[in-house]
Amino acid sequence: MGDWDVVVVGAGPAGAMAAKFLAAGGLRVLVLEKRRLPRYKACGGGLSAKVTGFLSTTGWQGWQKTVQDVTKRVVLTFRGMDGVEVSFADPLIHMVMRDSFDQSLVEWSRQAGAELWEGFEVKAVQEMDGGVAVGDGKTTVTAGFLVAADGATSRVARHLGMTGHRRLGMALEAELMVDRPTLQRYQGAVWLNHGNGNWGYDWIFPKGGHLSAGTGTFRHKARVVMQGINDYLDQLGVRAECLLHRKAHPIPTLVQDHPILHSRRCLLVGDAAGLVDPFCGEGIFYALQSGIIAAETILRQPKAGEPDLGNYSWRIGRELLPEFKYASLVAKLVFGLPRLMHRLVQKKPEIMQMVASVVFGSHSYRELYTFLAGQHWALRRLVR
Ligand SMILES: Cc1cc2nc3c(=O)[nH]c(=O)nc-3n(C[C@H](O)[C@H](O)[C@H](O)COP(=O)(O)OP(=O)(O)OC[C@H]3O[C@@H](n4cnc5c(N)ncnc54)[C@H](O)[C@@H]3O)c2cc1C
Repeated sequence: MGDWDVVVVGAGPAGAMAAKFLAAGGLRVLVLEKRRLPRYKACGGGLSAKVTGFLSTTGWQGWQKTVQDVTKRVVLTFRGMDGVEVSFADPLIHMVMRDSFDQSLVEWSRQAGAELWEGFEVKAVQEMDGGVAVGDGKTTVTAGFLVAADGATSRVARHLGMTGHRRLGMALEAELMVDRPTLQRYQGAVWLNHGNGNWGYDWIFPKGGHLSAGTGTFRHKARVVMQGINDYLDQLGVRAECLLHRKAHPIPTLVQDHPILHSRRCLLVGDAAGLVDPFCGEGIFYALQSGIIAAETILRQPKAGEPDLGNYSWRIGRELLPEFKYASLVAKLVFGLPRLMHRLVQKKPEIMQMVASVVFGSHSYRELYTFLAGQHWALRRLVR
């Protein structure tokens, strides 16, 4: 079986959640993380109402202490102008910084019995009869199963030849210190922007003492997001007093409807599996969910004999991916026709309520797409 029952590569939300459920299920779990925690992660740190609703069912309270701002308002602009604003009675998004959020989640998995080795960068993976071996060039660790939670550029997935199911776009996060009036103007809301020609969108996610501003594209590379963030901040007239971080990071999307996310003894979870919403770029929800599904799949394997991890890919396909299909269709409309869609939202702000209800989890992308596709008469009038 090896030194460990399961080795988890990567201590982001997917790896930490998988480790927690595996350890709570009585398995010997080792988490290998190449960085030292807490570590900066380029991310908007927006926890949608779907995520926080789900977290409250897991028994993990720690995330609440990491919240820096609560969103009850959305402002949608086109190239920084023509803002359409909607408000909600309940919080739509809770804002966190990923260093403290991820560290707290890892701490929770350690309390359940998982062990963490920091500063261990997995460089080689070998799947063998009876288990897996991973190494950093100096030390080799063996285990019965491997959970690859090593993010969008997953080295484990590359080693296993399992990258064909997704393609990589790019997103950039800039953490900006701004003056107090500017900070206060943005707090309590998320600012979203489209129309800068990047097949994606720009955002400002306010935090307790600074603004996280970002731009993401599902189609382009780093140069586009670097230019995108400069254009967006110019359009809004936001000037940073100081830049705390500015980092671009790949963001994956799936290119297959039924991806195979398992091998004989390895499972891909979170970004390593390409599980990011192809419309809004939300990935934390899918990282947490896939981590749990991976843990449940491993816990159900027979103690002896050949394992069969096929149920993992099947469950991801059945439980998470149907929404992605419709999110992609919504993305085609909104990113493909940004000016027209913005004019439609200006005429019918209730569309924003509908989008928000998808974030709340009370409506599906399928319903949103059907609603938008049903607006063809309104769109025709706008085109004329
Ligand atoms: C700019 C940007 C903004 C985003 N904003 C949001 C948002 O607001 N809300 C949202 O829901 N999603 C957002 N996302 C997506 C979200 O960040 C990811 O979907 C999420 O982090 C995926 O979690 P994960 O655990 O799969 O991977 P990660 O969070 O990427 O964690 C992977 C971990 O593996 C470690 N690792 C990597 N390679 C190795 C190795 N070889 N050996 C050991 N350890 C390794 C890394 O150091 C890291 O700690 C954003 C993404 C980007 C790029």
